Amino acid sequence: MPPYEEYIEMIKPLWDSHRLTNMGKYHVQLEQELKAFLDVPEVSLMVNGHMALEMTIQAMSFPPGAEVITTPFTFISTTHAILRNQLKPIFCDIKESDCTIDETKIESLITERTVAIVPVHVYGNICNVEAIGRIAQKYNLKIIYDAAHAFGETYKGIGIGNFGDASVFSFHASKVFHTIEGGAVCFKERKLFEDLYNLKNFGIRGEELVVSVGANAKMNEFSAVMGLCNLKYFQEEVTKRKKLAKVYLDFFAKQEGITVKNFSCSDVVYNYGYLPVVVEDMFGRGRDELYNHLKMNRIYARKYFYPLTSEQACFKNKYKRMKLPVAQYISSHILALPLHGELAKENLERIICTMKLET
Ligand SMILES: *Cc1c(COP(=O)(O)O)cnc(C)c1O
Repeated sequence: MPPYEEYIEMIKPLWDSHRLTNMGKYHVQLEQELKAFLDVPEVSLMVNGHMALEMTIQAMSFPPGAEVITTPFTFISTTHAILRNQLKPIFCDIKESDCTIDETKIESLITERTVAIVPVHVYGNICNVEAIGRIAQKYNLKIIYDAAHAFGETYKGIGIGNFGDASVFSFHASKVFHTIEGGAVCFKERKLFEDLYNLKNFGIRGEELVVSVGANAKMNEFSAVMGLCNLKYFQEEVTKRKKLAKVYLDFFAKQEGITVKNFSCSDVVYNYGYLPVVVEDMFGRGRDELYNHLKMNRIYARKYFYPLTSEQACFKNKYKRMKLPVAQYISSHILALPLHGELAKENLERIICTMKLET
């Protein structure tokens, strides 16, 4: 949370203006500040990351039933956004090294029905944007990056929102930068800004004018203020997390049977959103035993992401035939450990001590 007084001070004028939503003053200001902060040509704010993703895909006007190559190792939102647009997700396996989509396996999945690639910068690990860009160009495909985990990151000095046709961020309360609920789309083309504007505001373009069949996905002023306040403290939050992450990393460097799954690319400036580890054998415990052991000690790690989205109950066994050995392995061994700016050093030490306790 930002300092309470700063937030209250900024929302006070709303009691006079009564302008609580519909692209108000703070909405405009946050869009401008994010454009500069993320160093991208265009930003469109949204009510949440999921709607940002769903509407970006919708704005591309793909024919119903077309195929979209994506990763199953993600939050369910990525897969739902494709399906809710009447498109067909084609799941591609991931890389063991950083859990992002395996770009070497994309081409064999392309058919004449393929229209787009939706990769995820999972845990803030950046996909192979160069290779994916080349494939998209060769086959004339759109690329929409789910960058929900990668806010504020850079790759080779370039803001992460600059890759592909669009990049989508989530500003959910659980993310490194948040607006309570919220999200944004970054892109180059001004036309996409207009299309997204219509999609998020019923297609309304005047008191008596509706130009398209849009939905409602606007960010309100209270969320925009939360964003403006949090943006000032983003770097401080990242620095705190980086220090804590180093304690984990130093500990795991000496341990066998447990591998940290991010922070390994020297071209990336990370935001330290997550601390994912693959647990093979941690003092006799596998992933599930370690998860339960920590839970019994009131330490709440997350099996993030398990199960794979392709194996969720809602899809029954529909995608069972797809070969995803690496994703399956990672998913059944992954654990995201507690990491946030306010995590006290003593508590971090307690987490590490608890992991070391024999059964
Ligand atoms: C959080 C998240 C989303 C969805 O964002 P919301 O703001 O919660 O709607 C989508 N994809 C990924 C990878 C996420 O982590």
